Amino acid sequence: MMRDMKLGKGPILMNTHHAMDAINKTFKEKLGDKEGAKKVKHLEAEAWEDFLDMAIGQAGLWAAQDVEPDKVPSEIMPTEPYLLGSHAGCAGFWCCGPDDLGAPEEWNKKWPAGNYNRMSTVKGLFMCGDICGASGHKFSSGSHAEGRIAAKNALAFLLDNPGYTPTIKETADHLAAELYLPFEVYEKHKTYTTAPEINPNYIKPKMLQTRLQKISDEYFGGISTWYMTSKTMLDEGLRKLQLLKEDTSKMAASNLHELMRCWENYHRILSVEAHARHILFREESRYPGYYYRGDFDLVDDKNWKCFVNSKYDIATDKWEVKKVPYVQLVEDAAPVKH
Ligand SMILES: Cc1cc2nc3c(=O)[nH]c(=O)nc-3n(C[C@H](O)[C@H](O)[C@H](O)COP(=O)(O)OP(=O)(O)OC[C@H]3O[C@@H](n4cnc5c(N)ncnc54)[C@H](O)[C@@H]3O)c2cc1C
Repeated sequence: MMRDMKLGKGPILMNTHHAMDAINKTFKEKLGDKEGAKKVKHLEAEAWEDFLDMAIGQAGLWAAQDVEPDKVPSEIMPTEPYLLGSHAGCAGFWCCGPDDLGAPEEWNKKWPAGNYNRMSTVKGLFMCGDICGASGHKFSSGSHAEGRIAAKNALAFLLDNPGYTPTIKETADHLAAELYLPFEVYEKHKTYTTAPEINPNYIKPKMLQTRLQKISDEYFGGISTWYMTSKTMLDEGLRKLQLLKEDTSKMAASNLHELMRCWENYHRILSVEAHARHILFREESRYPGYYYRGDFDLVDDKNWKCFVNSKYDIATDKWEVKKVPYVQLVEDAAPVKH
């Protein structure tokens, strides 16, 4: 599909209306006109509900572009770059694992803060579901099961550590000053120009977000480059990201909504940078279809069938990225014999 688009053979159409015609024909032949129509209505409602569950963007597009998918084909395209845990890769936090499946002791018994399944590397901070790494498919049921595991282990941790009182380094006043800085920047400079969006003294969160999106898209394997990136692209993108980071203290918020957007930007920058640094470190294309490294355009199991862990040091603004061996805990199911 991407090759066809590059050759100018778009748009790519999904023939939902042909599928509906076929279903209509089959059930009317099988059940007669009245019962067949009833059955088709039911199947149709389920199909649209599935789209709403699994591909909300598509349902939104139908509504926005006045498309009735049972009557006309609809256009599809690869999506914009986004970071997603559960269905698209094993990204997430490194957590303490179970100790009954033969995992290396570093994954549980020798966990720095104690052996509590689902505790992160931060003592007393538990994770579950999509936020945990190392599993490409969580689903709602898996996330729910992990929630129970995490809650039980968090209780065990509380009972074992009754006197544990984690404290933060900053004072409440310091945190408040930092959180509300974008208000201060705006109030200080807002009268300098007549249009609040255009001001040499600050940048609105929407503009910063657009800049972040553009850097990610163009350098870190987004749609602009057909999901292709490389060391040279990543290095240049990270250089531009550094300049963007320097501008974040100039973000200005005129209301609470914009203040929320400013803080979303801080969080997004962090996850985008982690993402880019992992892609840079892993010299292969582990998830073809999600992104490709033009300079290492293959899955390389010999060197890279492993986890990649990173640690960000806020004090030095440095990232440490390393390989962690992959260990198969559960054997693959035997192939089904027919
Ligand atoms: C498009 C799509 C379709 C899917 N379809 C299916 C499916 O059909 N069947 C299936 O089983 N699974 C499906 N999944 C996967 C499933 O939805 C997830 O695995 C599951 O919802 C993860 O649950 P969670 O509680 O770990 O995370 P989430 O449901 O993401 O919950 C995390 C919550 O934390 C909140 N939050 C984030 N940051 C903060 C903060 N700083 N302060 C306070 N709150 C915060 C978020 O707003 C969110 O409510 C789908 C996922 C996607 C994206």
